[in-house]
Amino acid sequence: TLVDVGQVLDGLNKVQREAVTSEAEVLQILAPPGSGKTRTLTSRVAWLLANGMYPSNIIVATFTNKASKEMKERISKMIGGGLENRLIIGTFHSIATRYLRKYGHLIGLPSGFGIADTSDSSAIITRIIKKHKYSTMDGNDAGGIKSRISNLKSKMQSVDDYIATQKKSNHNDEFSKIYSQYEKELKNSNLLDFDDLLLRCLDLLRAHPLCVSNIESVLIDEFQDTNLVQFDLMCLFASRRNKITIVGDPDQSIYGFRAAEIGNLRAMQEFYPHTIVVNLEENYRSSAAILTCSLEVIQQDKTRPEKGITPTHELGISPVLRELPTPDAEARWIAQEVTRLRITTGNLFTFDDIAILVRSGGLAREIETQMTRNRIPYRLLAGIRFFERAEVKTVLDYLRVIFDPNNNEALLRILNTPRRGLGDKAFKELSATAEKKETSIWNIVQKAARGDIKVGGISNPGITGLSKFVKIIRDTQNAFKSDQTKDPEIVGKIIQTLLEKIDYKVYVGEKLQGEFEDRWQHVEEFITQAVEFCGNVMSGIDEADLPDTEAIGNTVEESALIGALGKFLATAALASVKEGPEAAGNGDGTGVLTISTIHNAKGLEWPIVFVPGCYNGSIPHSRAEDHDEERRLLYVAMTRAQALLYLSYPSQLWDRKSGGAQESNLCSFLAGGNMGILMTDRGPHITPDKILSFSNIMSRECPTPEMVQATINAAGLSNIHDEVESDKPSQHGGLDEDNYGSQLQYGVRKGYQR
Ligand code: ATP
Ligand code: MG
Repeated sequence: TLVDVGQVLDGLNKVQREAVTSEAEVLQILAPPGSGKTRTLTSRVAWLLANGMYPSNIIVATFTNKASKEMKERISKMIGGGLENRLIIGTFHSIATRYLRKYGHLIGLPSGFGIADTSDSSAIITRIIKKHKYSTMDGNDAGGIKSRISNLKSKMQSVDDYIATQKKSNHNDEFSKIYSQYEKELKNSNLLDFDDLLLRCLDLLRAHPLCVSNIESVLIDEFQDTNLVQFDLMCLFASRRNKITIVGDPDQSIYGFRAAEIGNLRAMQEFYPHTIVVNLEENYRSSAAILTCSLEVIQQDKTRPEKGITPTHELGISPVLRELPTPDAEARWIAQEVTRLRITTGNLFTFDDIAILVRSGGLAREIETQMTRNRIPYRLLAGIRFFERAEVKTVLDYLRVIFDPNNNEALLRILNTPRRGLGDKAFKELSATAEKKETSIWNIVQKAARGDIKVGGISNPGITGLSKFVKIIRDTQNAFKSDQTKDPEIVGKIIQTLLEKIDYKVYVGEKLQGEFEDRWQHVEEFITQAVEFCGNVMSGIDEADLPDTEAIGNTVEESALIGALGKFLATAALASVKEGPEAAGNGDGTGVLTISTIHNAKGLEWPIVFVPGCYNGSIPHSRAEDHDEERRLLYVAMTRAQALLYLSYPSQLWDRKSGGAQESNLCSFLAGGNMGILMTDRGPHITPDKILSFSNIMSRECPTPEMVQATINAAGLSNIHDEVESDKPSQHGGLDEDNYGSQLQYGVRKGYQR
């Protein structure tokens, strides 16, 4: 393809251009939020492609799947030609999965391994705890244990390593037993959990570096949040040419609680002594007022090296800091303010421009209620994931069993869903028999269905149910395997037939609570996604080919449909907080507001951002050990905002223990220094007049429509309405993304006003 190389550099500043075109072998781009790190990294990928590097020789690791999708879209716009689809791009987990699928057999990994998602992992641990009657005190619930295991794995401490250290200290706790049982159960089910994906990929690349012998360049976004395993993976990915570009910001490291190593930045400089470090110093995202205020927060960390950052935008509107009496009132206030903002500015903003960022998913509930009451359409980037909705998860589990019947976890969940006359006892006996005979539950189920063996607790109707079940699974498997058409629509038809056979509609209607229509729509959306995904895989659109050389060994042959199904299942398991059907909005083009956790908002930006729940106990969290990390979390939240930032907290919380109200205090990170906040006997307290007189950086009052309008005028966007009336079609379906930065002053998008 002939590409206009210059186009890749359009709209970048000098330092960014230098970084994009740098000949440095190992490059670290370290810079504050909104300085264009991700944009620079994306352009560098496009630059490499434009200069003739093959996309399948480039690995790009992003922090979320959504981020890689966006990056691909950007690259597509810059250079086109579909090259972006052949990149090896994704999260570390999805890249590792791709390598394991292709070459896992080289390290003895059974082909067709499944991925244990979060619910599988906790189901396994819960069962172990119950079976052995382990105590669940002191945070030893399934969730707590899972994160302990995960943290150990992220530090490359296998169960044997762990037991060895425990032995030395003469410690024999329940945890190591659960850990080793958990590993055994995963193995029996032919499952890898998220951490295993990375660890096994390490094993693979260490033993067979040829798998990555074609890799010319490795690029990583959000590097500050990588862990030790990911660091080693990076080195191995790059082992042939040692060409690496990472971008990151130590001030935004917020995954230490999940064993991310902020020290990886330094480690990398030591490992590659010729590393070139580039700093970007201009902020293109936020108004100067928002930037100043965020810096006040992060600069409280005195151990942090001071660095330069200059705003490119004008001062703008002071961030709003507001105290509300209760969390409920806080949520109501946000809904009112959203509505007011839109109405009083003549719908200058759409809901797409607005995000509410919360510390934890729990906080989102009250906000959701208020959004619904005020008819504000929203989407959740927090909370339940599409693939975990009950009605979707069951279909997914059927497909996982069809793909690999040895997946005990999925099998146990669907064996009696819909009901087939099996009780608790039957389940216990099936598992116990399988364990005794050292075989999979599926094998026992088949034998029991044929009447070859007797399993306690299964009645005659139960046996009939089982044999029907076995037949349905087998028939569906055959349908997948025997397909010769390679037509993705077949996937949809097979799934539909399956659902008819198990009377799924009746089950969803009668057994699952809530709106049938909504639930069935999710099921249909799921089928659509499966068809689309398999179609892309089979037509080769969405996959870079990993090298297929004889030196590496034969790869496993699968039918096209089965292969595509396997990839779809992996993608579903790894989907972070993907919502299936995009929230529809009001259907009138007013867009959809985003509610997200702060963690999930990393790397993103919105014109208007609300950060509720800024009280001590939530930020910093009462259980958080590392307050510096908590401060960085607030910093990440604040720096998502482009034009308007609202911070708020309730002065009273409901205390579950006493059943009464409990006073709460403004987050201490907001209560110091130049924030213009007075300290009182009950801790920091805001007095509105002080805020304004102390400094100009925060306001207690919401901006008047005139202020909002004036800011926009000052930013040279006074023609926003004219622009629309001329009804000039914009290049990319409404959002002029290429010029996102330059035309987006204070985050107000040009040209969407209808
Ligand atoms: P974060 O640390 O939050 O991930 P980042 O450093 O990755 O931030 P980007 O998301 O790449 O920053 O860029 C922030 C915004 O600034 C984007 O809207 C981007 O398009 C815009 N931008 C980046 N560079 C420029 C530039 N040279 N001119 C105009 N706008 C720019
Ligand atoms: Mg970024």
